[in-house]
Amino acid sequence: MTNIQKACKKCMIISDGDACPVCGEKLSKKWQGYFILMDCTVSIIGERIGYKCDPKVLAAISAATPDEAYAALGVDKARLTAPDDVAREEELRKIRRMLRCSNHCDALVPKLDGLVKRGQIAGSWRYALRVR
Ligand SMILES: [Zn+2]
Ligand SMILES: [Zn+2]
Repeated sequence: MTNIQKACKKCMIISDGDACPVCGEKLSKKWQGYFILMDCTVSIIGERIGYKCDPKVLAAISAATPDEAYAALGVDKARLTAPDDVAREEELRKIRRMLRCSNHCDALVPKLDGLVKRGQIAGSWRYALRVR
């Protein structure tokens, strides 16, 4: 099985699903060029295009406890552990929307008390340069 990589017109994120993991838009097969955003605080391309992790992510990374980290993110811990898939997905999507780079994802996951796995919030951190 070959995965066709597609990109989101709005977020520019490259993914192999049909819908954007961040905004839910249908992905396009017509895209060109890409870059990988390792660290949004030092990336020149990221800066130029305006891809920065939300300040809430940075606050959560420097939080002293998991509860403080969740409070900083504005994510409901109880909904993340609920049996309700829809509620869980909504909270995960909130985190995905705030997260833009690989390094901050790696720094954030250990702060979340083991409730969120990297694969649930990590994109490929690859962004298309042009999407039609
Ligand atoms: Zn999107
Ligand atoms: Zn970042």
